[in-house]
Amino acid sequence: MKLMPFSFDTTYKDIDSDLYSRVTPKSIANPEILVRNDRLCADLGLDAAKLDADVLAGQNRLEEPIAQAYAGHQYGSFTVLGDGRAIILGEHVHDDNRYDIQLKGSGRTPYSGRGDGNATVSSMLREYLYSYAMQNLHIKTSRSLAVVETDEAVERRRTEPGAILVRVMNSHIRYGTFQYVAGKASDELQRFTDYVIDRHYPQLDETDRTYLEFFDAVIQSSIEMVVDWLRVGFIHGVMNTDNMSVDGETFDYGPCAFMNYYDEEAVFSSIDKHGRYAFGNQRPILRWNLERFAKALQPLCTQSALTYDELENKLGEFEERFDAQYYTMMRKKLGIDSDGSRELVDEFLAWLRRSNADYTNTFLELETPGTFDDSVFATAEFEQLRHKLAAVGLDEELMQEANPRYIPRNYLVEEALDEYLETGNLSKFEELLTVVENPYTSKDMDSQFQQPPPREFDAEYTTYC
Ligand code: AMP
Ligand code: MG
Ligand code: MG
Repeated sequence: MKLMPFSFDTTYKDIDSDLYSRVTPKSIANPEILVRNDRLCADLGLDAAKLDADVLAGQNRLEEPIAQAYAGHQYGSFTVLGDGRAIILGEHVHDDNRYDIQLKGSGRTPYSGRGDGNATVSSMLREYLYSYAMQNLHIKTSRSLAVVETDEAVERRRTEPGAILVRVMNSHIRYGTFQYVAGKASDELQRFTDYVIDRHYPQLDETDRTYLEFFDAVIQSSIEMVVDWLRVGFIHGVMNTDNMSVDGETFDYGPCAFMNYYDEEAVFSSIDKHGRYAFGNQRPILRWNLERFAKALQPLCTQSALTYDELENKLGEFEERFDAQYYTMMRKKLGIDSDGSRELVDEFLAWLRRSNADYTNTFLELETPGTFDDSVFATAEFEQLRHKLAAVGLDEELMQEANPRYIPRNYLVEEALDEYLETGNLSKFEELLTVVENPYTSKDMDSQFQQPPPREFDAEYTTYC
């Protein structure tokens, strides 16, 4: 038998068996690797040479994969779900770290419902690119090990080749997993919570306060995640509670996008008709999601010293905590070192709302005036604002860490994906990967990568799951 590359130790199989199903991935005659992340291979201690297409497509397995059960609020409505087109090959252990190795697009599972279990090659390449960009933007995220094209045709808006994304996360445990378990006996919820604390928050002392501290830690990691999204203009697009990781990892890059022109109502997802997950709604939605998470923890109150009042009091601190982290982040973007007042940040935000300037480029222009030939930066108003900011901030070093030069511009991503679908050529896609590899430091990229699209393009731009 061929040596396998992963070191699996899959603890999820030791917990209650109704939290997952054992599944076999679909068989694929001629899997073909389109991209593989060699940086990630190195981080996982994997021998890239052993990661051939059969291994990455789940055709050559070490153990029996599982699909996870979960629930979630989707666009506000509670639904019981599960991995309908994904499986966990196993938990890979390297340097005392544990990683889920998941295949997305690997065929039907007991949770597929009417879904076909498949994924299109353009959506999996898209996820690969966005997760790569987020990682390099220093945002906690799922990572993508590879995209493997399959030999079947998948019917969506257009018919495309199918593909499998190999996704790596600390775990795929979601708020929605807790919502699923909360519907079971309370001792089951307690065992599951203990498992998650042990896996993700082992530093929490085993005291009566452990569950409250756990809730606190999830609030903290989730706020950090969303503040990071707001820092770079990221719109997740589908913040259903089943897409919220309890470890604060950004994941499930479906209809996501980066905002160009500053607009808190910016929303691109084809199914988000009412802007529930618009750029500026991500904060209130996080709070709403945490309220659902608190409800899921409520049965623990009968098992431990925890009371629901304590969970609610924690939720009550949300606005203050979010503000503290948000303003610290914004001050850094403006190169302001001191704690200072929030007034100047608010004044700056008011200007952004009025001007609808390109979010990314605004900070580069503040740092180095004259970088962009754009009329919004040629106004007396902007000049005055810049003067005010210069008096207390615009520290270059601070700004460079917080403000990317390059983001994956939506229209360039679409161009690269279209090129692949039309010609089978990945050169534009690979070029974009290079652009987002060093988003803060690289200065020698072609300036087209810093251009926002025409405003009409953004007004019409639509993303799909
Ligand atoms: P998402 O919006 O990507 O988070 O997906 C929501 C749920 O729908 C998850 O439980 C997915 O597993 C399931 N799902 C999405 N697409 C498919 C598909 N093509 N086949 C089966 N299940 C799917
Ligand atoms: Mg999902
Ligand atoms: Mg999805």
